[in-house]
Amino acid sequence: MSNLEREPQETLCGGVATREPVRRILSPREVPLGGPRAIVVRRTLPHRELRTVGAWCFVDHFGQARLDAHGGMDLPPHPHTGLQTVTWLIEGEVLHRDTVGSEQLIRPGQLNLMTAGAGIAHAETSPPERSPFLHGVQLWVALPERSRHQEPHFEHHAQLPAVVDGGVTITVLMGALAGRASPAVTYSPLVGAEAVLGAGSRAEIPLDPGFEHAVLAVDGSPQIDRQPLPRGALLDLGYGRPHIEVAAVEPTRLLLLGGAPFEEQLVMWWNFVGRSHEEIVAAREDWEARRRFGDIPAYDGKRLPAPPIPDTPLRPRPSGRPAAS
Ligand code: MN
Repeated sequence: MSNLEREPQETLCGGVATREPVRRILSPREVPLGGPRAIVVRRTLPHRELRTVGAWCFVDHFGQARLDAHGGMDLPPHPHTGLQTVTWLIEGEVLHRDTVGSEQLIRPGQLNLMTAGAGIAHAETSPPERSPFLHGVQLWVALPERSRHQEPHFEHHAQLPAVVDGGVTITVLMGALAGRASPAVTYSPLVGAEAVLGAGSRAEIPLDPGFEHAVLAVDGSPQIDRQPLPRGALLDLGYGRPHIEVAAVEPTRLLLLGGAPFEEQLVMWWNFVGRSHEEIVAAREDWEARRRFGDIPAYDGKRLPAPPIPDTPLRPRPSGRPAAS
């Protein structure tokens, strides 16, 4: 996934982390992913009222999109720095190609994890043989200072650990939950998990009280702690909860994200996560000059050009929740 906004706004971060439980429903904003064949994604992070959840700094929920009307997903090569991209599908297939030579088809139930480190580029396309629908999420994890300059690499996990309780199937994508641990490599304490709720199901999910958490309603009609969460919305749960109760009367799907509050200030612009205006400018110039990020010879088409840097300098801002104003 790429941030394809024509004039990406600096993601403003400023304020203090709220170290207490909260319960706040955040609505997504719709963002078209490029051109006449655009797939509209619903973006809930970063949000004006919530910049990060642990190190999770970006949540795009795409689909359910009917691909026959669009000709399929076609995200040309574009760069990333300072983050991991986490791709999880519910329906359909996406072919990932990157500049460290990876070529990996991802299907529902599998995890694609790209660690950009100092810099990588990738392209994401629908394969020629594909399902008519595409539905999934792409998430970004900000890398902490000690690991953000590392060499880029890519992981594919065809199988992830799952546990079933009370008609609820929990699959652990990143980190650990309910006694199961994902093999995916992480660089800060965090968790990412999917919960699939059968009709009439109910379960209590244990949480790490040293984390902050949020829940995305991917599908269906979830009840979180006996309160409804609209489909597509993100429920900010804040910090310090020992558990949540999830329930549904119809088949429902949730994504649970959490992590230790991310203490570092970030500059997020376009597809880069950095720490300063100068660093983002350098990454952009390297992409435009075909330095640093490499090529994807197998991709038949043009690279994605970077948008212009805004006139006002990008400023690093604290992560977490903005102070009440
Ligand atoms: Mn991308």
